[in-house]
Amino acid sequence: MTAGRYVGKAWDQCFFPRLSKLEVAELAKHDALIVLPIAAIEQHGPHMPIYTDTLISETLLTEAFEQLPDDANIWLLPVMPYGKSTEHLGHPGTISLSATTLMAVVMDIAKSLHRSAFTKLVLVNTHGGNTDLLNMMARDIRIETGMAVFRLDPGGLSSADAWITAKEKQVGIHAGDVETSVVIAAKSNWVHMELAPTEIPHFPESRFLQFRNRAFAWVMDDLSGTGISGDASAATVEKGQAMIGQYGLDIAAGLMDIYHFDMQSIQDRG
Ligand SMILES: [Zn+2]
Repeated sequence: MTAGRYVGKAWDQCFFPRLSKLEVAELAKHDALIVLPIAAIEQHGPHMPIYTDTLISETLLTEAFEQLPDDANIWLLPVMPYGKSTEHLGHPGTISLSATTLMAVVMDIAKSLHRSAFTKLVLVNTHGGNTDLLNMMARDIRIETGMAVFRLDPGGLSSADAWITAKEKQVGIHAGDVETSVVIAAKSNWVHMELAPTEIPHFPESRFLQFRNRAFAWVMDDLSGTGISGDASAATVEKGQAMIGQYGLDIAAGLMDIYHFDMQSIQDRG
């Protein structure tokens, strides 16, 4: 496993901004896939760095790019470290863009890529608070630029399910077992495991009020006193390493499906 920044194929080969303008000009634009990761800097409980969602994005994408075939024309942009984290504002260290700012930034990046003649973009998101906005932006970018635009949220891939309990899958939405395991596997010296809490929100689960379907517009202080939701104390480095491996395989498979997606074939009604 290769974890960490600027090590491995993601950075040595496929990191888009390492290219010169001449190299970008020479890329085959018709099938190039540009990966725009969007994360967050926000509180992740008393035990984890505020950089958690961004570090997770870098770590999982580093692993995923190791799995891509050498001839895949897939390019990684820097992870955008700021997202819409308004649900964590007031917790020290949280840095949030407003919805309108994030929308404008994502659209400007997409338009710039379009000016460079790229035609295919995937927004890879590792922060739940960005999800709704990025779904909307993906369609707006499609309409505004004509690019084929895709969404890939590693958190929705169930890649870590084999290593967590059913309860944790239900409630471990923020700084719980999965995120804590991945971060201690990637950067253990940034985590204070002795402070890792367990906090399960008292939330009335029903058909209409499932925790994960965002039927209730919560802010973190509604759910939790510690700033986490889940069982961070269950995290281990070994689980984190296994999860990173599985996430890497799943994200790579997702990127390859998107890479091979042929817009013409779905538009062809003949
Ligand atoms: Zn997170």
